[in-house]
Amino acid sequence: METLLESAPAPDVRIVLVGTQHPGNIGSAARAMKTMGLSRLVLVAPEKAPDRDTQAMAAGADDLVEAAPVFATLAEAVADCRWVLGCTARSRRIQLEPLHPRDAARRAVLAAGSGPVALVFGRERTGLDNMELQLCHAAVHIPSDPAFSSLNLAAAVQVLAYELRCALLDATGVEAQPAPAMRTAPPGEGSASHAELEGFFGQLAETLDQIDFHKGRAPDSAMRKLRRLYLRANLDSADIRLLRGVLADAQRMARLAAAVGSAPAKIG
Ligand code: SAH
Repeated sequence: METLLESAPAPDVRIVLVGTQHPGNIGSAARAMKTMGLSRLVLVAPEKAPDRDTQAMAAGADDLVEAAPVFATLAEAVADCRWVLGCTARSRRIQLEPLHPRDAARRAVLAAGSGPVALVFGRERTGLDNMELQLCHAAVHIPSDPAFSSLNLAAAVQVLAYELRCALLDATGVEAQPAPAMRTAPPGEGSASHAELEGFFGQLAETLDQIDFHKGRAPDSAMRKLRRLYLRANLDSADIRLLRGVLADAQRMARLAAAVGSAPAKIG
């Protein structure tokens, strides 16, 4: 079934990698992009050309690397862009408007309607230099732990690509989350533990067998539906005790019925 999102064109957002030092990171970044529906990868003066490591890390996203234009400078790579965002691991000492990735992605999807947008990522060791940052219109910082703020290059691309995808899903009216009716209630205080739930499901499966609920059909489908139903109810420990009490009685009655069924009929 084709969704609204599949039929929507990918936003004109390019991912620009500047001076990448490890060819493997180019492949990982391509993979991160492709999983999120982005296809425009641009390289600026990579330290080493894409190689076998790139291909291995791309894991099927090599088409993005093969199609990626390579420029000598960042200025050339973004010359035709309407909006250029520099992604930086450093949150302070930047003279640019700082944007949260979510806000940046939402604005990028809107801006891409009127011209190409670029998200620019720096070198693994040193990031983007000041000259390169000056070519950007705003800075994006992933709010990482200030004491250890630098993500792996491809991990940073993944975060931004994911935010772009969510922004696009919102913009095209496709819910990024399942419809409320499908949502499982979040566990609250006093919710049953995983072990309690699994104990209950085990006894439920046993009981269904004993009362011949399945009548020769495979039990998996009924159990899947029952699991979903009970998980929606957000059971607590007392609920589990009550339900297991009901099952224990049903099992006792099933044993009695089996014993009566196998006893020789009385002749009166
Ligand atoms: N030591 C470098 C880190 C480079 S990491 C520095 O201090 O800049 C490689 C690239 O990944 C960065 O240039 C940036 O584009 C991106 N990146 C890493 N962590 C990030 C973060 N927290 N927020 C935004 N981009 C980040």
